[in-house]
Amino acid sequence: MPENRNIVLIIVLAVIIVILAAAFIALFTYYHHIRKRDSEVDVLTGGKTKIRFFADCEKIIKKIPAEKYAVVVIDIDKFKLLNERLGYEVGDMVLTRLHSTIGDSLEEGEVFARISDDHFAILMKNAQNNELQNRLNGIFTEFERRNSLFIKYPVLFSAGVCRLGQCKGQNGAVDFTVAIDRCKLAKKSVKGYHTSEVAFYDGKIRDISMREKDIENAMPPALERKEFLCYLQPKYGTENRHIVGAEALIRWDSKEFGFLSPNEFIPVAEKNGFVVELDFFILEEVCKLMRRWIDKGITPITISVNQSRLHINDDDYIWRLREIVDKYEIPYEYIELEVTESVFNENTELMLKILHKLHELGFKLSIDDFGSGYSSLNLLKDIPADVLKIDREFFNGTVNSSRGRAVISSVVDLAKNLDMNVISEGIETGDQMDFLKEIRCGMVQGYYFAKPMTIKDFEDHWENDQQNESDAILNEIFSV
Ligand code: C2E
Ligand code: MG
Ligand code: MG
Repeated sequence: MPENRNIVLIIVLAVIIVILAAAFIALFTYYHHIRKRDSEVDVLTGGKTKIRFFADCEKIIKKIPAEKYAVVVIDIDKFKLLNERLGYEVGDMVLTRLHSTIGDSLEEGEVFARISDDHFAILMKNAQNNELQNRLNGIFTEFERRNSLFIKYPVLFSAGVCRLGQCKGQNGAVDFTVAIDRCKLAKKSVKGYHTSEVAFYDGKIRDISMREKDIENAMPPALERKEFLCYLQPKYGTENRHIVGAEALIRWDSKEFGFLSPNEFIPVAEKNGFVVELDFFILEEVCKLMRRWIDKGITPITISVNQSRLHINDDDYIWRLREIVDKYEIPYEYIELEVTESVFNENTELMLKILHKLHELGFKLSIDDFGSGYSSLNLLKDIPADVLKIDREFFNGTVNSSRGRAVISSVVDLAKNLDMNVISEGIETGDQMDFLKEIRCGMVQGYYFAKPMTIKDFEDHWENDQQNESDAILNEIFSV
């Protein structure tokens, strides 16, 4: 009998082990399935993930030559802003709407996916540029038709296209990551226009990106070698036409690239964060200059320095700024910090907090390039700025039309009502000057009076200007 009991026990144990093993295998398989599903299905759109997209692309070009395909990356312009203005729920709906619009437009043998936040990639059949462009424009138009049924908000796109034949490695295999990067490079070359745009990766774009890389690498040693320079552009009072301040503008006298304007290297420096060092360098040059003036008994004029949006992510920003200004013992009120209007589109709260702190400390603040982007008029009341700088775009032909004049005049009045001084940038003609005087815009800056110049030239210029001003006063006294 005990023998029988042992056999039963063994059988029961064996069954339990089998059941446990089966349960374990089932659980493992389920877990594996879920993981695979999560890595292959995009939760938001229900479509493919980037991993699945790449896998499908690989499968397709095993059967069909890569030359028959192109990769497209589509990006929604200013999607962050859309999210902030309309809410994340609406943002999500825009993404799913775009997903279904793209899906409905594809031909057999083509695949697509949302590969990151607002980036969609398509493996599209290769064709002439204009045919691909037409297909993409078709997607944008159809999206607009569907989207406008739900929201009244202009959604624009930038798309980059790269032919797969251009993305083969030495072994002849296609590298899809390279293809996506190239699409992004092409896309970047057309971002920020006021229409949806498509760009094709070609030799020109490759050269631009290689030059950008070279510029990026050359910047840190160039700062050590003192190749960066601080130029000053005078600001003038509209009434008396004399110098009332200046803006510091960076230049790069590069051994390698020649003399570069900031438009060529600041965007690159903004991408890798080096702009932060450049901004502190310019601030230090301005402080050194003011220290020299003060030591000579000259009362400084306010000089403005441009501050990149990147500073707001730096916890040490205010600390470093004060450290430089304090080192030269410059009263904070002589330094004006210019922040460009568009920084208020992102991280608005943090930006306002930092600006309030700087203002409390005594720094002057100005809103640069006002009117160049999506100005949030409503935000103006919350920004503790002393000066509003009207962007030069405003003056492009505007002064000639009565409606244009009305807009500028209203902006000047608005700023004044908010206790801000107003300066108009990019003033090039006497007509513009007369108009600004008429509407009582306090200051101007532009080629009409002077271009940005070296510090030495600025000092000569300012001295002459002061001399002329005192001569004028004396003349007036004696002529009375
Ligand atoms: P911004 O701050 O709006 O500076 C004004 C730009 O307009 C300057 O260009 C100036 O030379 C130009 N300008 C002035 N008057 C006229 C005019 O009458 N007509 C025309 N067509 N242009 C005029 P610049 O020096 O090439 O600087 C371009 C931009 O680069 C600046 O625009 C600013 O956003 C950025 N930048 C310059 N220096 C720095 C810097 O030290 N740090 C940072 N973060 N950005 C800087
Ligand atoms: Mg500026
Ligand atoms: Mg400006």
